[in-house]
Amino acid sequence: MPEKKVSRKKTGAKAEELKEEKPVRKPASKKAEPAKKEKPVKKAETAEEKPAVTEPAVPSEPELPQPRRSVAFIGSECYPFVKTGGLGDVMYALPRALTKQNCDVKVILPRYACIPQKYQEKMIYRGAFEMDLCADGRSYYVGIMEYVWDGVVYDFIDNDEFFSWGKPYTNLVDDIPKFCYFSKAALAALNYMDWVPDIIHCHDWQAALVPVFQQAMFQGTPVANAKTVFTIHNLRFQGIYDIKTIKYWTNLPDALFDYAVLKQGNDDANMLKGGLSYASMITTVSNTYAWEIQTEFFGEKLDAHLRYHSGKLRGIVNGIDVDIWNPKTDPLLPANYDVNDAIEQKKACKKTLQENLGLEDNQDKMVIGLISRLTNQKGLDLVNAIIPSLIDGNTQIVVLGTGDPEYENSFRYYENTYKGSVCSNIMYDEERAHQIYAGADALLVPSLFEPCGLTQLIAMRYGTVPIVRETGGLKDTVEPYNEFTNEGNGFTFDRYEAGLLLDAINRAKTLYFTERDRWDEMVKRDLQKDVSWEKSAAQYRSLYLELKP
Ligand code: ADP
Repeated sequence: MPEKKVSRKKTGAKAEELKEEKPVRKPASKKAEPAKKEKPVKKAETAEEKPAVTEPAVPSEPELPQPRRSVAFIGSECYPFVKTGGLGDVMYALPRALTKQNCDVKVILPRYACIPQKYQEKMIYRGAFEMDLCADGRSYYVGIMEYVWDGVVYDFIDNDEFFSWGKPYTNLVDDIPKFCYFSKAALAALNYMDWVPDIIHCHDWQAALVPVFQQAMFQGTPVANAKTVFTIHNLRFQGIYDIKTIKYWTNLPDALFDYAVLKQGNDDANMLKGGLSYASMITTVSNTYAWEIQTEFFGEKLDAHLRYHSGKLRGIVNGIDVDIWNPKTDPLLPANYDVNDAIEQKKACKKTLQENLGLEDNQDKMVIGLISRLTNQKGLDLVNAIIPSLIDGNTQIVVLGTGDPEYENSFRYYENTYKGSVCSNIMYDEERAHQIYAGADALLVPSLFEPCGLTQLIAMRYGTVPIVRETGGLKDTVEPYNEFTNEGNGFTFDRYEAGLLLDAINRAKTLYFTERDRWDEMVKRDLQKDVSWEKSAAQYRSLYLELKP
């Protein structure tokens, strides 16, 4: 991503213009709650200001569920500004889906220097203040840059010192202070903008201190009235560092560095653990994962803590953006299709895929895809163990991914050994991903654990049959094929064993090669399956209403 910085603190034309009227101020109190009267009065640039002039604040369409609720999303990444994984997709798609459920949504993000210039240019200066942060009284500049797009307001927290790296995450030494600052600045910014939502919805460890700061340092300020929801996208990443450092960067009271809140082991503080302790509600991205993380195997050392808080823990499965992922309109495909012409048009996609990847151009071969980060989470040990058994002259395997050198090299080895049958694309390539989703017959997702998983959802949306392990969101979203009733969306296996993965693939192959009519019916069922955000957004909305009836 480009690292060029534009119109950042004290540099942008707009910031300069507006600065005269609204000088950078110290917050009125230590809790960074500027006095309401100091709120900048600007032209209608924000969602909440705009309606007062032109349109009614509450849309009058009768079909919108009532009442209206306001939500601030706080997280460390959001497509298309910055994305490193599934979190970026969710931060993009869920707010948009919530606006259709009569929610007023603001998304608060760091203003990384790596956000593409075309978005940086559209941001408008919304104000700035100084915020106390560290234990020694050190304070920091907090700038707010705003961009309103498709009904969602994006507020970027601006600070050169923390966000000028070329990528969002570097290493914990830098990331811990960065996200201590970000979590507090996000709350202070809500007070500063005088926009206190019903719900503050924070995501993953980078925003986990939001509920902690809210309870410990923002009492008596407007933002204390919001309820908090904390969503775990992947429990593996927690933001753990020594207590001394986190105490310095947060100035949180000693009492919170206790096993019930932040403390872990002898000397460490765990930011995610703190968020779990103080959030009004915890969600994770599938029902099965919500249950799994309360067990020792999946709990990443927080299973007991999660069991203790299980009364406020829910699972809500992710969706995908069905406009971006739409085989009927996808501009990256050689042929577009929907359920009516998928069986024919997918052949054209398969042919192009085979040609582009140097595989034998043959419709009779079954093409099995794998699109994944190449890490041990993704079940690649199982795949490596069985590839030789899959090579039978009728099967082609296409891998797309980057990650641990161990897996990158093993897939390169298999491509060399089984030329024409295995193609390993060791790269991150959005276009190729789309072509594999459309051109493959089946897609493997044999993960060791999978909080939700998006690739199986995208595969189904493209009429490609998923073969998955029954864990986390894979279990919740792929109904196993039932040969007696001819129902189901894919093939599944339960225990983490190579033999069981091979068995699932062989069951898929048997159906593909011997009962193609039934296979094609499954392709059509998958294409028609609802994998959109609509249902899940409605569940989030119900949760918000439960917290703020
Ligand atoms: P995770 O967030 O654990 O990596 P998910 O299944 O939730 O896994 O999301 C993975 C997303 O990243 C999907 O949209 C998938 O298409 C995409 N993806 C993964 N690897 C690649 C790659 N090498 N090239 C292009 N897209 C990829």
